Amino acid sequence: MLHTERHATGADRGPDAVVETILDLAAGLAGKARAGGLTPVAVGVTVPGVVDEVAGVAAWSANVGFRDVPLRDLVSARLALPAALGHDVRAGGLAEARLGSGRDFRHVLFVAIGTGIAAAHVVDGQGFAGAHGAAGELGHIVVRPGGTPCGCGARGHLEAEASAAGVSRRYAALAGSPATAAEVVARAAAGDAVAIQVWTETVEVLADGLVTAQTLYDTEAMVLGGGLAEAGDALLAPLGVAIRERLTFQREPILVRAALGDEAGCVGAALLALDARP
Ligand SMILES: [Zn+2]
Repeated sequence: MLHTERHATGADRGPDAVVETILDLAAGLAGKARAGGLTPVAVGVTVPGVVDEVAGVAAWSANVGFRDVPLRDLVSARLALPAALGHDVRAGGLAEARLGSGRDFRHVLFVAIGTGIAAAHVVDGQGFAGAHGAAGELGHIVVRPGGTPCGCGARGHLEAEASAAGVSRRYAALAGSPATAAEVVARAAAGDAVAIQVWTETVEVLADGLVTAQTLYDTEAMVLGGGLAEAGDALLAPLGVAIRERLTFQREPILVRAALGDEAGCVGAALLALDARP
């Protein structure tokens, strides 16, 4: 990583303005690279939502409002370079699998547990996006039938029950005062009974979801990233035990914490760009 910039998405300005910002930012980065004596050879862009990586189209995004935006071709035309478009979590998973905590394993499931929950299945360094660019939506499997309403409209989904937001909501409902997921983890470690209960329930719900994932994918390693994985051993140790308790015939996955942090998506975008070079 030679140079990093962070800019607000500004989704409230509408998807067209967000696209313009992405194009301006990409052109600016290429210009800075050239000014520094480098030669950009390809561009990689990753976005959230449903992404058709083959067509290079940002098909749908709840947060940004994308509807069938041909982002790959727009970027390629603006910068006059080959371009690739990817999904943020899948690209992060690709980076973790090839260069991060999954690099010693062939069958990797990257699971991002943050504001939402999503997964990326990577085998031999290749990610699988599904027929419609929507594979890996692990956050939207039912773990508690009839449970907490999910942003997608259903109930009891893993994301509604066990994301960082879910942990906060669960704690606020029991304790009567708000706390972030990180605060809940710290309070549980300090012996706060409500926090311990919330964290224990969260680990159990996550274990239910990850055992389903293991049943479907038969992974060698699960790489856990996102904000909740910042808890480190406070998450991985009890989660490993809870998964083991639930397995019957399935083989136990090795649980590891992601290594690339919130730069995984950027590194993954660069990998997609390199793969897209003619
Ligand atoms: Zn859902």
